[in-house]
Amino acid sequence: MKLMLDAGHGYGTTGKCTPDGFPEYAFNRKVAMYARKILESYEGIEVYLPHSDCEDVSLSDRTERANTLKMDCYVSIHANAFGDGSEWTSPEGIETYVYVSKPKEAMMLANVVQSKLVKETGRPNRGVKTANFHVLRETKMTAILVECGFMTNKIEGYLLQMDPYQQQCAKAIAEGIASFYQLSERHGTCILN
Ligand SMILES: [Zn+2]
Repeated sequence: MKLMLDAGHGYGTTGKCTPDGFPEYAFNRKVAMYARKILESYEGIEVYLPHSDCEDVSLSDRTERANTLKMDCYVSIHANAFGDGSEWTSPEGIETYVYVSKPKEAMMLANVVQSKLVKETGRPNRGVKTANFHVLRETKMTAILVECGFMTNKIEGYLLQMDPYQQQCAKAIAEGIASFYQLSERHGTCILN
């Protein structure tokens, strides 16, 4: 199967920031990178990262690429923010989005990934929601968008900057995808007779 792992935002449009100045893109790109590494230990999966650290890849470029390359699945990785990101606020927890029409496969994948994320990180479960986001609407394949915690919550804003939390999120996303698509782990040795 072909998977596109989208690190939300980009080099020039970094998304929002924590009130202490950590940009969302810095989190998203790390998680995408770690998740790809884990997923590459499974058989039968090709992982594409549409973002670049050198130039901005627009949302429509990302979704067009996913459609042209005939991806089977599109996962967009984000961190949430409440308000304009200028101050610490109370909203917290993890949520996963599917398109407003609630496509069946996407709903199922979203439920698997959401519960893995909550279990792995121990953060509050805000559930699976629907939204009319570009990447969910314009992709022709199963697509979900994960929000891995609030940059504007003091605890989560701190966690999102930490490598172990980034790895936990990556592990949950990767294992959710692997379990949904029933991928088997690649074997390290090849036996020749
Ligand atoms: Zn975002």
